[in-house]
Amino acid sequence: MDDFFKDIDWKCQENTFWFQIKHDAIKMYTMIIGNERSNPQKDRKQIQFEFYYRNDKNCNASIKHQCDTDYLIINKGTIIAIFEYIYAVFASPGMFTEIGNPHTEVINNFVSFYQECDNSNKQIEFPKDKTRLETADIVAMYAIRFIINHELGHLLNGHTFILKDIFNESELQMYSNSTKPASEKYSLDIRTLEFDADRFASSRGISSVMSSYMDPDYIAFAPQLLKEKYKLFELYFFATHSIFLFFEYLYGFEFTSESRYLPYHIRQIANYGTSIDFLDIFYRYGFLNREENDIDEIKDMMRLGVFKAETYFNYLYKANYHWEEKERLDKENLDYHWQMIMSNWENRIEPKLRSYSRTILASENTIRIADDNYKQSTKTYGTPTMLY
Ligand SMILES: [Zn+2]
Repeated sequence: MDDFFKDIDWKCQENTFWFQIKHDAIKMYTMIIGNERSNPQKDRKQIQFEFYYRNDKNCNASIKHQCDTDYLIINKGTIIAIFEYIYAVFASPGMFTEIGNPHTEVINNFVSFYQECDNSNKQIEFPKDKTRLETADIVAMYAIRFIINHELGHLLNGHTFILKDIFNESELQMYSNSTKPASEKYSLDIRTLEFDADRFASSRGISSVMSSYMDPDYIAFAPQLLKEKYKLFELYFFATHSIFLFFEYLYGFEFTSESRYLPYHIRQIANYGTSIDFLDIFYRYGFLNREENDIDEIKDMMRLGVFKAETYFNYLYKANYHWEEKERLDKENLDYHWQMIMSNWENRIEPKLRSYSRTILASENTIRIADDNYKQSTKTYGTPTMLY
């Protein structure tokens, strides 16, 4: 199945080497985190972990458990679409004007996340400025890793077992175009699992950004970022919010009791909240090593990243997404959906997952447990996992 390059002429023939590097880096990252995490904490049989590319142009990813093996599968179209979108951002002279030299950028073909995924003649717009290209790589990888970590969260938190138990299904796809009518109960369960996978991805993601932020050697290859390291948080939130917006758009979203995901603004609130919780841990353990207003600065940067992601997305798709506005206006509705998920998590899903999960499940005590874990093993949360 590992045939990412068999139809490489689909796009970027002259950039085969570039693709090879990305491909290897993503695979390596996935294998490292997968294997590092697949050692059971309880007395459970060791579960093998396998990573595959699916050689098609779909923007999708999936997980599967079969014969004591966990499978994490990413469709090639997802990787290409993300690089395409993020490169176009940095090839646009009006975006992130403070990074590198935006005046050298001239965008020829405006590319988009998904709609044109199938256009075999389209070429990726590479940012011309070196700093902007390197920064685009970082941002694209933030987005890709969020997806990988989300899928990994499904596997390590035991979601495949619960699917098998309750619904006799062994696979969960990021995007399912199944037209099979789903019961409200099924949808709520899936939504709860998706919410849990998001939380896993958020905690991994922010920990990785924090590690980069604290490591003086990390951004040596992108000197401009070294000067303004707060920017890492802005870029990370730009990446994650772009993913949420993309999904909202892809699903033609109108939230109903049958939806498999929470609306984008609620997913971002959870992402933001999880990130703040983790920052507090870092602060308490002295890793933030500075004045307390460091945290305020970081929070501002996160919100700026969200704002920029929306500005760009709205411009590109003539859409009208406004996270903070929606958060404010939609408070009642939001609280309702939030409570549904939380009570389904606490009363139904979390108790079932306890016997399946290979990581610490989220609960009211998660942060405290994660805290203790952090003390014992800085490797779990503290090792920089950036590959480039
Ligand atoms: Zn998922």
